[in-house]
Amino acid sequence: MKTLQIGELRIDVLSETEHCYMPVSFLFNDLTREDMARNSDWLDSAFLDPSGWQIGIAFQAYVIRTGGLTILVDSCNGNHKQRPTALWQDNLRSTAFLENLSGLGLQPEDIDIVLCTHLHCDHVGWNTRLENGRWIPTFPNARHIFNRDEYDHYFSRYEKEGSSVNHGAFADSVLPVVEAGMADFVAKDHTVLSGTGGEVSLSPSPGHSYGHVCIHARADNEEALVVGDALHHPIQLDMPKLRMRADLNPEQAIETRSRLMAHCADQGAWLLAGHIPHHSIAQLVRYEDRFRLAHQN
Ligand SMILES: [Zn+2]
Repeated sequence: MKTLQIGELRIDVLSETEHCYMPVSFLFNDLTREDMARNSDWLDSAFLDPSGWQIGIAFQAYVIRTGGLTILVDSCNGNHKQRPTALWQDNLRSTAFLENLSGLGLQPEDIDIVLCTHLHCDHVGWNTRLENGRWIPTFPNARHIFNRDEYDHYFSRYEKEGSSVNHGAFADSVLPVVEAGMADFVAKDHTVLSGTGGEVSLSPSPGHSYGHVCIHARADNEEALVVGDALHHPIQLDMPKLRMRADLNPEQAIETRSRLMAHCADQGAWLLAGHIPHHSIAQLVRYEDRFRLAHQN
């Protein structure tokens, strides 16, 4: 499913990479061959590849449209970014992101608001593009809304550690839009818009990063929840306590992930997890003491 319509809100998946494989150890140090075997009945080789000891993942954003406003959530990796410490996204030259945006009938000028669940390099990349050796905002008419806690956390690290913070992404994909006067800093429970066309708001979901937020889109008593990196892979539905290597506070991340999965399963909220290939708009059901994608149960 690539498009979700709830009331007047339309949400589209915007792919940069629809599917790729990564070594298991890039995400999960504690995943075992027994864990993979136990889940092979519902997660095929697109998700778990025990022979190559790799897992399938995607890099995808969401576009939310309502009442004449167009919101981009999480802008993936971006092009030409030098990431020597994150090789899967080093110096990308992909046309997919902007072509897929165009396929939705949109140009960069049409984006009114950019939201980022957090400021890791694979969620802020297209905020800027390289032009004549300088990083300039990709979306020239957009306000970029950042949770102040998340921004302050990385800004203080940037002051101490320099431009290597977040593999260089704070310097090349966040600061340029701030310096262009195109950023707004908000509380972690900020309401972005509300009215007859629906509501879009933030809620705190800390753990993966210091000020990680989820994006809620609500209309007509339905809800969709962009969870960012609170959930990376469907194996975590079976293993909510599996630690993701980049989680800043693993215990808090597990608590957040469990809470969000329970919310989606129990309230019927749509789960929008951009790192999950093929099921980046999904619903969850409870399965014994864990969870499954609804249609796969
Ligand atoms: Zn992240």
